Amino acid sequence: MALSRRSLVAGAAILAASAKARAAADADVVVIGAGAAGLAAASAIRRGGHSVVVLEARDRIGGRAFTETALGAGRSFDAGGQYVHWAERNPWREIARAAGVRTSDDATSPWPVLVKDGVRASEAERRQRRAGFGRVSLLLDHPDASPAAPDRSVAEAVAGEDEAARAAATGLTRLTLGEEPDRVSCADYDQLWSGDDIWVDGYGALVAGHYAGLPVRLGTPATMVDWSGPGVAVETPRGTLRAACAILTVPVGVLAAGSLRFTPALPAATAEAVAGLRMGAYTKIGLALDPARLREQDLRDAVILQSGTPGLTAYLEMQPFGKPLAVLHCGGDGARALCEAGEGAALAAATDHLASVFGTGIRTAVTAGRLAAWWTDPFARGSYSIARPGRLPAREALRVPVADRIFLAGEALAGGGAMTVGGATLDGERAAAAVLRRLGS
Ligand SMILES: Cc1cc2nc3c(=O)[nH]c(=O)nc-3n(C[C@H](O)[C@H](O)[C@H](O)COP(=O)(O)OP(=O)(O)OC[C@H]3O[C@@H](n4cnc5c(N)ncnc54)[C@H](O)[C@@H]3O)c2cc1C
Repeated sequence: MALSRRSLVAGAAILAASAKARAAADADVVVIGAGAAGLAAASAIRRGGHSVVVLEARDRIGGRAFTETALGAGRSFDAGGQYVHWAERNPWREIARAAGVRTSDDATSPWPVLVKDGVRASEAERRQRRAGFGRVSLLLDHPDASPAAPDRSVAEAVAGEDEAARAAATGLTRLTLGEEPDRVSCADYDQLWSGDDIWVDGYGALVAGHYAGLPVRLGTPATMVDWSGPGVAVETPRGTLRAACAILTVPVGVLAAGSLRFTPALPAATAEAVAGLRMGAYTKIGLALDPARLREQDLRDAVILQSGTPGLTAYLEMQPFGKPLAVLHCGGDGARALCEAGEGAALAAATDHLASVFGTGIRTAVTAGRLAAWWTDPFARGSYSIARPGRLPAREALRVPVADRIFLAGEALAGGGAMTVGGATLDGERAAAAVLRRLGS
């Protein structure tokens, strides 16, 4: 087809515009968010020979992989990710080994002691609970053989089961996903990574150390992404950064909250996919303990304290890696309420929990505490992404780039690796590979 004068002029204008965009660009690629996905993406872009700048809202890197050190020397704990899930295929197993960090195998951990409403469970109750978990894993591991069967929530899947199975389902979704069973998709749960877990002493510090030296601008939240021109212009309180492409790795909870704006608005399909996911509220509360005030039996067990449904389902990690520390893990609406109540109320609740397991004397051993309130954290808005029942395709849909210049990445897009550091890392690398192809590398 012969070119008309009009198309020649239009073509020249586009060339001029993109040359202008390149000349004005601060980097080839801007990465928004310095969690595992953003850091992995930035590292891959640099290896691919392109310039990259990472914008991070917090004053640190690592995002939801974060080793909390506020309780002092020798009492650090991972406020976010702590297990290398599905170690067989997770890049962080080898990275942890090479870095020489302490790890612990799940198989060597003590069997948890069940305490219900302050009373240690009898052997019969323990057996009943194990039977409930067995029944639930059978139901959830094989939700329905037919691909055409409609997805349903975990609560729906166990609705016809006995009380032990329903309680097990609630404990499972709250303590592995941070969410209530009626909001969790069976199909999504079924596709999540399984396999061996390795517990890392300082997963957050490992992630931050591994990616040290990347060009990250800390304390620089993106407030608006303008993709109306040939590239992207990202507004921050410290000025605007221009690039050919953006890799957007903020949690889906941040996207849903609307604190990061887009001009023009994100396409309907992307917005619809964001709406298909919600954030769970997995929460940890670290309590510093004075070893001199503890009795031998206080330190011995990992303890699950189950206060039923509704209520706070929680478990206590006692002296992780031998540290004088108790870490309370909880999830679902009870955890949301604690985050909303604030640190003082959450520490009091965690201390009550500790006392209901070990007796009131242990209260004097608690010297300080720290709430990891991801649910109320404006740069996380929850612990990790949960697919709403029937909305599993949302994860895949978010991988479709916006106008070939905004590439989303992160745990929410990681398929079976969703909700994990390993999944986020691999997904950051996937997005970077797509950007490198787009840049012609
Ligand atoms: C309590 C808890 C326990 C967990 N346990 C495990 C576990 O045992 N094992 C495991 O593998 N995973 C676990 N996870 C999940 C894991 O931590 C996450 O899946 C993973 O770290 C997510 O990485 P990401 O890069 O996708 O997102 P993030 O780490 O959240 O990175 C996104 C980054 O974007 C930044 N950001 C947000 N808004 C803006 C903005 N406007 N401008 C610029 N930057 C912005 C954030 O500050 C953040 O640094 C846990 C998470 C939590 C919360």
